Amino acid sequence: MTDRKLQIIPIGGLGEFGMNMTAIRFGDDIIVIDSGMMFPDAELLGVDLVMPDLTYLKDNRECVRALILTHGHEDHIGATPFFLSEIDVPVYGSAFTLALVERRLEEYELEREPRLIPIKPKQIVEIGPFKIEFIHVTHSIVSAVALAISTPLGVVIHTGDYKVDPTPIDNEMFDLHTLAEYGKRGVLLLLADSTNSDRPGYTQSERAVRPRMEEVFNRADRRVFVSCFSSSIHRIQLVLDLSQEYNRRVAVIGRSMVSVTEIAHSLGLLDIPDDILLRPQDAMDLPPDKVTILISGTQGEPMSALSRVAVDNHKHISVERGDTVALSSRIIPGNEKAIFRMIDHMSRRGADVLYGSMNPPLHVSGHGSSEEMKLVLNLVRPRFFMPIHGEYRQLAKHARLAEHLRFAGLEDSFIMESGEILEIDKHGARRAGRVPVGRVCIDSGSVDDAVPEMVIRDRRLLSEDGIVLPIITINRHTGRVENSPEIVSRGFALAEDGSEFMARARAVVAKTLEGSNQEEKTDWGVMKEKIRADLKRYIVKETSRRPLIMPVILEI
Ligand SMILES: [Zn+2]
Ligand SMILES: [Zn+2]
Repeated sequence: MTDRKLQIIPIGGLGEFGMNMTAIRFGDDIIVIDSGMMFPDAELLGVDLVMPDLTYLKDNRECVRALILTHGHEDHIGATPFFLSEIDVPVYGSAFTLALVERRLEEYELEREPRLIPIKPKQIVEIGPFKIEFIHVTHSIVSAVALAISTPLGVVIHTGDYKVDPTPIDNEMFDLHTLAEYGKRGVLLLLADSTNSDRPGYTQSERAVRPRMEEVFNRADRRVFVSCFSSSIHRIQLVLDLSQEYNRRVAVIGRSMVSVTEIAHSLGLLDIPDDILLRPQDAMDLPPDKVTILISGTQGEPMSALSRVAVDNHKHISVERGDTVALSSRIIPGNEKAIFRMIDHMSRRGADVLYGSMNPPLHVSGHGSSEEMKLVLNLVRPRFFMPIHGEYRQLAKHARLAEHLRFAGLEDSFIMESGEILEIDKHGARRAGRVPVGRVCIDSGSVDDAVPEMVIRDRRLLSEDGIVLPIITINRHTGRVENSPEIVSRGFALAEDGSEFMARARAVVAKTLEGSNQEEKTDWGVMKEKIRADLKRYIVKETSRRPLIMPVILEI
């Protein structure tokens, strides 16, 4: 038994941001921890999400025993539907995490009913040679866990994402005791979150957001809009509590915000005061100083509720002069343009928009800073250490934070990148080759598509279906479309009647333009997304092909 080796194989999330996935193998048994995605860069426009290449796991399909999810953030669960369609194994996670997975699974039709197995902190499950204990950790999402995985060679601790929040909003403390107990008994390997390893000191408690938010409610004499990630249940609880204290009723706006608050409420994780909720269609009828709007879309996603409100194109909600809008989230790099454009729109309508970092904060990170990392390192005192979740510089910084443990039993730290194998046997730990890894682009249709279906294709396939570029000339100041839309295509040849098809495709684009208001037309992000969605629907319907559609808007 002890002749066999333990292998740690990061499939994604090391040396890159997002799409976290780690395989742990002993003999012929593999468990996979997390199945995350990342959002595509602008250069992959036309692709909906990016996930890790599963080649290694598919090649070893018969050895994979389970998928274990640490928490419900998209960079940990987002690829689960695609994972399960390839590798049909039971999925373990907290009830809340699994409810978020189910919500994603609803969008896709899997051949077999997924086997979702809810776990609770302190519970231990046995899967092949692995015995896994779930340990509650504090993070920006509720119901997050770390894992203590007992293997024939020793214990592997995987922290998931965490911060050490001494005063969590839900009073559910980080179970540092259990972590310390494992440390005392001896830990073979620690895999720990590196996201904020380049930040000194401690990350502020989630509770630190309250003073700023309180000030917002205190000062506002009209509607208060608060936007945060729909998974930020702590933050949503704070907004509900303050609304009650300040005698405001709350309209929950945006598909994800509505469904996630419902899930959290049904699981008893969100306390919604009686009669506080307001139907969206009634929100504009109440006196403005009696209304809070809790709305999704903090990243300026073009089709999100807040983006629509910003260009006054929401069915029920408008932002008006004197309203306060608080963006309670960080600005994810790459989204600056879209977010600032959205803020410009709302500022133009006369709203006071609060965003970015300030003191006291409107947002705090969910990831621990360097002092919290040292605390976890000191409690676990591993023999080997492998930083996970982060770009190379963050992994390297994290490894440096562990150096002092050389005097307390740390033999080695391994700064690895996705695909590299760490092998451990009774003699020690070492790098041992690579497995194929990479990124797979997922094209699942527009978020708004009524009948979404799952299509996985890599860039090669995308290029086989060609590329279609609708070109629109818009006068930035008047918002007027200057010429009729043009469409250029490459590698997207039609057997017959190509010119008539293209003429009708141009008409589709023209109709999209006509159906948009002036403000939307000056917002390129919104226009591109609308054109892409409409044109895609048309092309798929007519040709059953899925070319990459990249709208180009020329400003004159
Ligand atoms: Zn994460
Ligand atoms: Zn997370």
